[in-house]
Amino acid sequence: MRKPLLAGNWKMNPVNRQGAVDLARAVTPAAAEHVARVEVAVFPPFCWLVPVASAIDGTAVGLGAQDCYWERTGAFTGEVSAAMLAGWCDWVIVGHSERRGLFGETDEQVARKATAALEAGLSVIVAVGERADEFDSGLTEQVCRLQLSAAMQPLQAADAGRLVIAYEPVWAIGTGRNADPAHAGATMAVVRQVLDVAFGREAAAAIRVLYGGSVNAANVASYVELESCDGCLVGGASLKPDEFSTMIGAVASVEARR
Ligand code: PEP
Repeated sequence: MRKPLLAGNWKMNPVNRQGAVDLARAVTPAAAEHVARVEVAVFPPFCWLVPVASAIDGTAVGLGAQDCYWERTGAFTGEVSAAMLAGWCDWVIVGHSERRGLFGETDEQVARKATAALEAGLSVIVAVGERADEFDSGLTEQVCRLQLSAAMQPLQAADAGRLVIAYEPVWAIGTGRNADPAHAGATMAVVRQVLDVAFGREAAAAIRVLYGGSVNAANVASYVELESCDGCLVGGASLKPDEFSTMIGAVASVEARR
Protein backbone atom coordinates (compact mmCIF):
# COMPACT_ATOMS: atom_id res chain seq x y z
CA MET A 1 0.00 0.00 0.00
CA ARG A 2 1.28 3.48 -0.87
CA LYS A 3 1.46 5.98 1.98
CA PRO A 4 -0.05 9.29 0.87
CA LEU A 5 2.34 12.19 0.40
CA LEU A 6 1.49 15.81 1.14
CA ALA A 7 4.17 17.98 -0.43
CA GLY A 8 4.35 21.73 0.14
CA ASN A 9 5.91 23.71 -2.70
CA TRP A 10 6.76 27.09 -1.20
CA LYS A 11 7.79 28.54 -4.59
CA MET A 12 9.70 31.85 -4.07
CA ASN A 13 8.52 32.27 -0.45
CA PRO A 14 9.08 33.30 2.33
CA VAL A 15 11.33 36.24 1.63
CA ASN A 16 13.48 35.86 4.75
CA ARG A 17 15.26 33.11 6.61
CA GLN A 18 13.33 33.35 9.88
CA GLY A 19 10.04 33.16 8.00
CA ALA A 20 11.18 29.92 6.38
CA VAL A 21 12.35 28.40 9.65
CA ASP A 22 9.11 29.39 11.42
CA LEU A 23 6.96 28.00 8.60
CA ALA A 24 8.76 24.67 8.61
CA ARG A 25 8.64 24.35 12.40
CA ALA A 26 4.94 25.18 12.47
CA VAL A 27 3.97 22.05 10.54
CA THR A 28 6.08 19.62 12.57
CA PRO A 29 3.39 18.88 15.22
CA ALA A 30 0.77 17.79 12.65
CA ALA A 31 3.35 15.80 10.71
CA ALA A 32 4.39 14.01 13.92
CA GLU A 33 0.79 13.33 14.94
CA HIS A 34 -0.06 11.71 11.62
CA VAL A 35 3.29 10.21 10.69
CA ALA A 36 1.88 6.68 10.55
CA ARG A 37 -0.65 7.64 7.86
CA VAL A 38 0.81 10.57 5.90
CA GLU A 39 4.25 11.49 4.62
CA VAL A 40 4.89 15.25 4.70
CA ALA A 41 7.61 17.16 2.89
CA VAL A 42 8.29 20.85 2.31
CA PHE A 43 10.09 22.40 -0.64
CA PRO A 44 11.62 25.79 0.22
CA PRO A 45 13.74 27.93 -2.12
CA PHE A 46 17.40 26.82 -2.40
CA CYS A 47 18.70 29.49 -0.01
CA TRP A 48 16.49 28.26 2.84
CA LEU A 49 17.31 24.57 2.50
CA VAL A 50 20.14 24.68 5.02
CA PRO A 51 18.34 26.59 7.81
CA VAL A 52 15.15 24.59 7.23
CA ALA A 53 17.14 21.34 7.32
CA SER A 54 18.38 22.28 10.81
CA ALA A 55 14.93 23.43 11.92
CA ILE A 56 13.24 20.13 11.02
CA ASP A 57 16.10 17.78 11.85
CA GLY A 58 14.71 14.77 13.69
CA THR A 59 11.07 15.64 12.91
CA ALA A 60 8.59 13.88 10.64
CA VAL A 61 8.83 16.60 7.97
CA GLY A 62 10.90 15.78 4.88
CA LEU A 63 12.78 18.35 2.83
CA GLY A 64 13.18 18.92 -0.88
CA ALA A 65 14.29 21.46 -3.47
CA GLN A 66 12.08 22.90 -6.20
CA ASP A 67 14.48 22.23 -9.07
CA CYS A 68 17.98 21.01 -9.87
CA TYR A 69 20.46 20.98 -12.72
CA TRP A 70 21.51 17.76 -14.43
CA GLU A 71 25.27 18.39 -14.64
CA ARG A 72 27.15 17.42 -11.50
CA THR A 73 29.55 20.38 -11.36
CA GLY A 74 31.13 22.94 -13.69
CA ALA A 75 30.63 26.29 -15.41
CA PHE A 76 26.84 26.62 -15.07
CA THR A 77 26.38 29.98 -13.36
CA GLY A 78 23.34 30.14 -11.14
CA GLU A 79 22.56 26.43 -11.24
CA VAL A 80 22.50 23.95 -8.36
CA SER A 81 23.21 20.32 -9.15
CA ALA A 82 21.27 17.32 -7.91
CA ALA A 83 24.55 16.01 -6.47
CA MET A 84 24.90 19.18 -4.36
CA LEU A 85 21.34 18.92 -3.09
CA ALA A 86 21.84 15.34 -2.00
CA GLY A 87 23.80 16.52 1.04
CA TRP A 88 20.97 18.73 2.28
CA CYS A 89 17.64 17.26 1.35
CA ASP A 90 15.97 14.04 0.23
CA TRP A 91 13.62 15.31 -2.46
CA VAL A 92 13.47 17.45 -5.57
CA ILE A 93 10.64 18.59 -7.86
CA VAL A 94 11.36 18.59 -11.60
CA GLY A 95 9.18 19.74 -14.46
CA HIS A 96 6.94 22.08 -12.47
CA SER A 97 4.76 23.99 -14.91
CA GLU A 98 6.29 27.29 -13.77
CA ARG A 99 9.70 25.94 -14.83
CA ARG A 100 8.26 24.71 -18.12
CA GLY A 101 6.15 27.79 -18.87
CA LEU A 102 8.20 30.68 -17.46
CA PHE A 103 11.69 29.31 -18.01
CA GLY A 104 11.18 27.28 -21.18
CA GLU A 105 12.09 23.92 -19.71
CA THR A 106 11.61 21.10 -22.24
CA ASP A 107 10.55 17.48 -21.75
CA GLU A 108 14.12 16.44 -22.55
CA GLN A 109 15.52 18.71 -19.84
CA VAL A 110 12.98 17.42 -17.34
CA ALA A 111 14.11 13.87 -18.16
CA ARG A 112 17.78 14.83 -17.66
CA LYS A 113 16.96 16.45 -14.31
CA ALA A 114 14.97 13.44 -13.13
CA THR A 115 17.78 11.09 -14.15
CA ALA A 116 20.45 13.19 -12.41
CA ALA A 117 18.36 13.50 -9.26
CA LEU A 118 17.76 9.75 -9.04
CA GLU A 119 21.45 9.07 -9.69
CA ALA A 120 22.29 11.45 -6.84
CA GLY A 121 20.08 9.40 -4.52
CA LEU A 122 17.22 11.89 -4.27
CA SER A 123 13.53 11.09 -4.44
CA VAL A 124 11.91 12.94 -7.31
CA ILE A 125 8.51 14.48 -7.97
CA VAL A 126 8.01 14.82 -11.73
CA ALA A 127 5.22 17.29 -12.51
CA VAL A 128 3.10 17.01 -15.66
CA GLY A 129 -0.10 18.69 -16.78
CA GLU A 130 -1.96 20.43 -19.55
CA ARG A 131 -2.38 24.17 -20.16
CA ALA A 132 -5.83 25.79 -20.23
CA ASP A 133 -5.98 25.82 -24.05
CA GLU A 134 -5.06 22.13 -24.13
CA PHE A 135 -7.69 21.36 -21.52
CA ASP A 136 -10.30 23.27 -23.53
CA SER A 137 -9.32 21.31 -26.65
CA GLY A 138 -9.71 17.97 -24.86
CA LEU A 139 -5.97 17.28 -25.04
CA THR A 140 -5.33 16.52 -21.36
CA GLU A 141 -4.63 12.83 -21.80
CA GLN A 142 -2.46 13.30 -24.89
CA VAL A 143 -0.34 16.03 -23.26
CA CYS A 144 0.15 14.10 -20.04
CA ARG A 145 1.06 10.90 -21.89
CA LEU A 146 3.67 12.75 -23.95
CA GLN A 147 5.21 14.63 -21.01
CA LEU A 148 5.27 11.53 -18.88
CA SER A 149 6.69 9.21 -21.55
CA ALA A 150 9.48 11.70 -22.27
CA ALA A 151 10.36 12.02 -18.59
CA MET A 152 10.21 8.26 -17.93
CA GLN A 153 12.15 7.26 -21.03
CA PRO A 154 15.65 7.20 -19.44
CA LEU A 155 14.46 5.83 -16.08
CA GLN A 156 14.58 2.23 -14.87
CA ALA A 157 12.13 0.08 -12.92
CA ALA A 158 14.65 0.14 -10.06
CA ASP A 159 14.02 3.90 -9.75
CA ALA A 160 10.32 3.43 -9.04
CA GLY A 161 10.58 3.48 -5.25
CA ARG A 162 11.96 7.03 -5.33
CA LEU A 163 9.68 8.35 -8.02
CA VAL A 164 6.46 10.37 -7.60
CA ILE A 165 4.36 11.85 -10.40
CA ALA A 166 2.30 14.98 -9.80
CA TYR A 167 -0.57 15.66 -12.17
CA GLU A 168 -0.96 19.43 -12.09
CA PRO A 169 -3.23 21.04 -14.66
CA VAL A 170 -1.55 24.40 -15.36
CA TRP A 171 -4.89 26.23 -15.29
CA ALA A 172 -5.49 25.04 -11.73
CA ILE A 173 -2.16 26.16 -10.28
CA GLY A 174 -2.45 29.26 -8.12
CA THR A 175 -5.80 30.18 -9.66
CA GLY A 176 -8.25 28.94 -7.05
CA ARG A 177 -9.83 26.92 -9.89
CA ASN A 178 -9.11 23.41 -8.64
CA ALA A 179 -9.79 20.58 -11.08
CA ASP A 180 -12.99 18.62 -10.79
CA PRO A 181 -12.00 15.49 -8.84
CA ALA A 182 -13.52 13.37 -11.63
CA HIS A 183 -11.19 14.99 -14.20
CA ALA A 184 -8.20 14.71 -11.85
CA GLY A 185 -9.02 11.09 -11.00
CA ALA A 186 -9.39 10.06 -14.64
CA THR A 187 -6.11 11.74 -15.57
CA MET A 188 -4.24 10.17 -12.65
CA ALA A 189 -5.59 6.80 -13.80
CA VAL A 190 -4.03 7.49 -17.23
CA VAL A 191 -0.75 8.38 -15.49
CA ARG A 192 -0.92 5.04 -13.68
CA GLN A 193 -1.46 3.21 -17.01
CA VAL A 194 1.61 4.90 -18.53
CA LEU A 195 3.69 3.96 -15.48
CA ASP A 196 2.50 0.35 -15.64
CA VAL A 197 3.59 0.13 -19.27
CA ALA A 198 6.90 1.92 -18.67
CA PHE A 199 8.06 -0.04 -15.64
CA GLY A 200 5.82 -3.09 -15.38
CA ARG A 201 2.90 -3.24 -12.98
CA GLU A 202 4.82 -4.60 -10.03
CA ALA A 203 7.55 -1.95 -10.06
CA ALA A 204 5.12 0.85 -10.92
CA ALA A 205 3.02 -0.01 -7.86
CA ALA A 206 5.67 1.76 -5.76
CA ILE A 207 5.18 5.07 -7.58
CA ARG A 208 2.84 7.57 -5.98
CA VAL A 209 0.63 9.73 -8.19
CA LEU A 210 -0.38 13.11 -6.74
CA TYR A 211 -2.83 15.79 -7.74
CA GLY A 212 -1.82 19.47 -7.56
CA GLY A 213 -3.64 22.71 -8.36
CA SER A 214 -5.41 24.96 -5.83
CA VAL A 215 -5.64 22.22 -3.22
CA ASN A 216 -6.69 23.51 0.19
CA ALA A 217 -8.15 22.30 3.48
CA ALA A 218 -11.68 22.33 2.05
CA ASN A 219 -10.99 20.18 -1.01
CA VAL A 220 -7.98 17.98 -0.19
CA ALA A 221 -10.12 15.03 0.92
CA SER A 222 -11.99 15.00 -2.40
CA TYR A 223 -8.69 14.15 -4.13
CA VAL A 224 -7.08 11.74 -1.70
CA GLU A 225 -10.33 9.78 -1.53
CA LEU A 226 -9.86 8.92 -5.20
CA GLU A 227 -8.58 5.45 -5.98
CA SER A 228 -5.97 6.86 -8.36
CA CYS A 229 -4.63 9.55 -5.99
CA ASP A 230 -1.75 9.03 -3.53
CA GLY A 231 -1.56 12.55 -2.15
CA CYS A 232 -1.26 16.18 -3.21
CA LEU A 233 1.32 18.75 -4.24
CA VAL A 234 0.28 21.98 -2.57
CA GLY A 235 1.46 25.50 -3.36
CA GLY A 236 -0.33 28.47 -1.80
CA ALA A 237 -1.97 26.57 1.06
CA SER A 238 1.41 25.20 2.18
CA LEU A 239 2.42 28.76 3.12
CA LYS A 240 -0.37 28.83 5.74
CA PRO A 241 0.84 26.49 8.49
CA ASP A 242 -2.56 26.16 10.19
CA GLU A 243 -4.24 25.25 6.93
CA PHE A 244 -1.44 22.90 5.87
CA SER A 245 -1.62 21.20 9.28
CA THR A 246 -5.38 20.78 8.87
CA MET A 247 -4.73 19.24 5.46
CA ILE A 248 -2.28 16.73 6.96
CA GLY A 249 -5.04 15.70 9.39
CA ALA A 250 -7.61 15.49 6.59
CA VAL A 251 -5.39 13.20 4.53
CA ALA A 252 -4.78 11.04 7.61
CA SER A 253 -8.55 10.76 8.21
CA VAL A 254 -9.14 9.57 4.64
CA GLU A 255 -6.30 7.07 5.00
CA ALA A 256 -7.71 5.80 8.30
CA ARG A 257 -11.02 4.97 6.54
CA ARG A 258 -9.37 3.03 3.70
C1 PEP B 1 2.04 24.15 -7.16
O1 PEP B 1 2.78 25.12 -7.06
O2 PEP B 1 2.51 23.07 -7.50
C2 PEP B 1 0.63 24.31 -6.87
C3 PEP B 1 -0.16 23.29 -7.03
O3 PEP B 1 0.22 25.56 -6.43
P1 PEP B 1 -1.24 25.92 -5.82
O4 PEP B 1 -1.56 24.88 -4.78
O5 PEP B 1 -1.05 27.28 -5.24
O6 PEP B 1 -2.20 25.88 -6.95
